[in-house]
Amino acid sequence: MTELPGTSPLPTVFLPAQSLVTPAPRAQKSFSNTKETSTEPSTTLKKPTFTLPKLRLEIRDLNHAGAESFLTSVTASQALATSVQSVLSLLYHTPDSPTTTVPTTRSVTLILRPMGGVAYTTGSDLDSDHKEIHFSLDYINGISTSRKADEILGVLTHEMVHCYQYDAFGTCPGGLVEGIADWVRLNANLSPPHWKKEASGNWDAGYQHTGYFLEYLEQRFGKGTVRRINEKLRIERYEQKKFWTELVGRPVEQLWGDYAEAVEKELKKAEEEECVLVEKEDASTPKVLEESTPTKPSKELWGEC
Ligand SMILES: [Zn+2]
Repeated sequence: MTELPGTSPLPTVFLPAQSLVTPAPRAQKSFSNTKETSTEPSTTLKKPTFTLPKLRLEIRDLNHAGAESFLTSVTASQALATSVQSVLSLLYHTPDSPTTTVPTTRSVTLILRPMGGVAYTTGSDLDSDHKEIHFSLDYINGISTSRKADEILGVLTHEMVHCYQYDAFGTCPGGLVEGIADWVRLNANLSPPHWKKEASGNWDAGYQHTGYFLEYLEQRFGKGTVRRINEKLRIERYEQKKFWTELVGRPVEQLWGDYAEAVEKELKKAEEEECVLVEKEDASTPKVLEESTPTKPSKELWGEC
């Protein structure tokens, strides 16, 4: 749903794996027992603040029901500014710790207009430093009231990633580009309820499918792994085997296999815990409840689920 952002080659800066700041709160804390390196920051510094680009809003049909819906659900200036800060704090270091290079995006224009689909991002006709996010008024109008603000912010955050991410000079798989966008959305705590981890198919199927895989890598190889991916996409063309082996020491197919195992394990654990909860609700004697161990269900005690 997007065109890849135009990016300018900039001087190489090496990016260490460790982050000095704590960005947006983490959405997923699973997989923590699979971490291979300990890179959690020992101290949390002040919230990172980046210089905002020029932010603009263009509503092409003010009479459209989606326009009022947008204007009454979110404060446009805050929505845009927050999504920029989420993207920059998750993909880049703070300005006073400049070990990554933020692209030279100078302006972002949010264009609300009637159209099919959800949204896409493109460089302006004149200059790729000026980005346009086109967001469908029809889509906004169709979001349920309870989800309206979060969904608008979630889509905006996803599209804002495209205004600031690197794409290996256009050679990066589209699925990885979209996966990074949804990984940021996930970590900005804006994932919609229907998202779920799944390890079927290919690692680069894109969107949340790849986003959750990136979150697994982030937890396994340490905070800042996705930043390192983005940084590597800034400095070189994408060659799959070389890319992943240099980055984390093994091919991506192997990592995808490891991820599938981790997801399966997690699902099994969740099912077992659910099973215990159901059985606990059914349990009639206090004695049985006392014997229950929710994290380690015993088949003998609780029977088959
Ligand atoms: Zn996208």
